[in-house]
Amino acid sequence: MLTGYRFEMIIGCMSAGKSSELIRRIERARLAYLPTIIFRPATDTRSKPDHVESRNGLASHAVVVESAKEILKYSSHAVVIGLDESQFFGDDIIEVVMTLLRQRKKLIAAGLDLDYRGKPFGPVPHLLALSDRVDKLLAVCRKCGSDFASRTQRTVQSSEQILVGDSEYEARCIDCFEPPSEFQLKLDLPKTTAQEVLLLKSVANQMPAQV
Ligand SMILES: [Zn+2]
Repeated sequence: MLTGYRFEMIIGCMSAGKSSELIRRIERARLAYLPTIIFRPATDTRSKPDHVESRNGLASHAVVVESAKEILKYSSHAVVIGLDESQFFGDDIIEVVMTLLRQRKKLIAAGLDLDYRGKPFGPVPHLLALSDRVDKLLAVCRKCGSDFASRTQRTVQSSEQILVGDSEYEARCIDCFEPPSEFQLKLDLPKTTAQEVLLLKSVANQMPAQV
């Protein structure tokens, strides 16, 4: 009988160590003699066929599927199921995940939470809501060197949401991230009237004193 978290998510930008963390957790399940399997969508063409590879050289066997529904076909024997590059699965991954959870499987899914525009990526936000543990990994910003990169910067011009490849992207912190101009925030800040400033000040004065 499985105990602990049933649906774990490992999210973050590129180069944050998501795949190596996924492989590490799957290896731990294997050490506990639990049958495991890792799936990745066919869209991701970077790894060798039938493998998940991390940038630090870790690799594990993976089944490449054309559609999320195929996961149900190949996972009946497994108790712990890994999903890599979850952002590339279609929306039908949501039903598949709910089905697997009802089948009392344990799921560990890794994926990008944001795309190159800084927008939530594919089914990942929905999966986050279904999960019971989330680890958001950060990378090193390739522009300023801080440890807080959470965005994936596209370094070539293209308006395709999915453009697979490592050389076309780099990890950036929120301050160094430059989304394409059409996706930059263009909110006009509302002007505050003198009367509203007075009201805000009086409200602030009524706030309990900081201890
Ligand atoms: Zn930076």
